[in-house]
Amino acid sequence: MNIACLKELTKEPKIAYFSMEIGIRNDIPTYSGGLGVLAGDTIRTGADLKLPMVAVTLISKKGYFRQELDENGSQREHPVSWEPSKHMTLLPAKIAVQIEDRQVIVQAWQYNVESLTRGCVPIFFLDTDVEENTAEDREITSYLYGGDMAYRLKQEIVLGIGGVRMLHELEFEIKKYHMNEGHSGLLTIELLNRFKRPIEDVWDEKLVWDVERVKDLCVFTTHTPVEAGHDKFPYDLACKILGELIPLKVLQELGGKDGLNMTRLGLNLSEFINGVAKKHTEVSRNMFPGYEISAITNGVHTYTWTCDSFKNLYDRYLPGWANEPELFVRVGRIPDEEIWNAHTEAKKALLNYVRKNTGVRMDPDILTIGFARRATAYKRADLIFSNIKRLERIGLGKLQIVFAGKAHPKDEQGKKLIEKIFSIKELLKSKIKMAYINDYDMDIALKMISGVDVWLNTPMRPREASGTSGMKAAHNGVVNFSVLDGWWIEGHIEGFTGWSIGPNPTETLLIDNMDSKDANDLYCKLEKTIIPLFYNDRHGWIRMMQNAIGKNAYYFNSHRMMRRYVTDAYIR
Ligand SMILES: *Cc1c(COP(=O)(O)O)cnc(C)c1O
Repeated sequence: MNIACLKELTKEPKIAYFSMEIGIRNDIPTYSGGLGVLAGDTIRTGADLKLPMVAVTLISKKGYFRQELDENGSQREHPVSWEPSKHMTLLPAKIAVQIEDRQVIVQAWQYNVESLTRGCVPIFFLDTDVEENTAEDREITSYLYGGDMAYRLKQEIVLGIGGVRMLHELEFEIKKYHMNEGHSGLLTIELLNRFKRPIEDVWDEKLVWDVERVKDLCVFTTHTPVEAGHDKFPYDLACKILGELIPLKVLQELGGKDGLNMTRLGLNLSEFINGVAKKHTEVSRNMFPGYEISAITNGVHTYTWTCDSFKNLYDRYLPGWANEPELFVRVGRIPDEEIWNAHTEAKKALLNYVRKNTGVRMDPDILTIGFARRATAYKRADLIFSNIKRLERIGLGKLQIVFAGKAHPKDEQGKKLIEKIFSIKELLKSKIKMAYINDYDMDIALKMISGVDVWLNTPMRPREASGTSGMKAAHNGVVNFSVLDGWWIEGHIEGFTGWSIGPNPTETLLIDNMDSKDANDLYCKLEKTIIPLFYNDRHGWIRMMQNAIGKNAYYFNSHRMMRRYVTDAYIR
């Protein structure tokens, strides 16, 4: 690859998509979860639709981490070793950013995401591991979400400021900068500096900063419905690390008075701002009054998140589906037994994997529930264990459950959650079979979301900004059973596309939890509706699978999402 290819790519002005993490393929471990996988899906779709796009992220040379679970479910973390040169090309270009009082040199690796449509989106993975840098600075791009606040800020300097400089160095002309979450917020400051008006031309010092011009160029997507989740750095730390990038009082005006808040930068310097589901947008408007925030509900990349047996099926009945997911509207043409056979094949593949990975032998004829996501308190993986006796009575001989998910190394509660699941798994093992798959990643996600019968999601509301794994499940005819939060508020039609858990959402603030209400509803529906339908009315069950595809996958795909970004955010 190819300077020639790069030349070709720089001919046309681009949309630059910035994300701290990107999950582009399983063996490039530069992602931790939903945010990174969404970024990967966005880029893949950009390539499918031949959008003029480039992406910027960090190389994360030691990955997020590899999860090892012992027999009690206690988690140990290991760095992931991988070799960027096996997948991508190191570019000769280098740029510098100032960190503390040093110039830190940044290089970039290019990876081209190529679509069968012949579209191509290059990703530039920024890397500080170069000889010119001190040993400590060489580690800035090693660990995704590792280290302390100072480490994170240095990473964000490399991503935001370094990213803009690198694109410039590579001679790209950029017509929009899209910040996927606040981590890349500093790119706005780099742009402000770039478009500074000469002092002698303006009568008010404030007018030196061409905020409107930067706003015109920037798009900001927020993903975090909880105040504490937004990156915020105390100004003494920020000033020490950033130096005098722009005058402190200007920075404070744009980034917040009580700390440099990356979300505030994104909000204050972007013409277009959006949340990732309608509900999440409402919550964001409440959290940040005074900003105009639009809603573009997430979607997943249809081809990536469809398992082989369903790919075959769709190829035969809905040719062209992968680049035109709207064709799922015609899912009713696929005969019931073909859907069931494709599903059974995926289920057997998952159960085989479960046996190899965990030693647990599961039965393909038993209703199988899947739950996999970051192990953290608000996701409430243990809600289904609120009343173990009741679960045992309902599920004896009729239920099996597959879990997976990593806890962030510093999330002690999340780690305890995994241990709790392990102990209940042991307790119930002769009655309800359960397995916890180690080291959740994109490959395991595909096996799980296609191989179970029901995809369970029980977050505390309204903390699930969108959630995307349920959309993946729907692409494979797997039915969602979920708390009404995030995307499911939009995708759910009771008893038709899936089932809800707990009351209708009305809150826009974090309220007292409703664990017991939610758990009760979960048990009731499992016992009275879901289990009987699965065992006694196969036809009715397959109808729901079809609806999941025809109504949910039809809409919650990243082709629809990207067309929205183009018309609402990129071209305006
Ligand atoms: C899709 C995906 C996620 C996000 O799942 P949510 O349901 O949004 O929490 C996380 N991790 C991996 C590996 C995924 O593929």
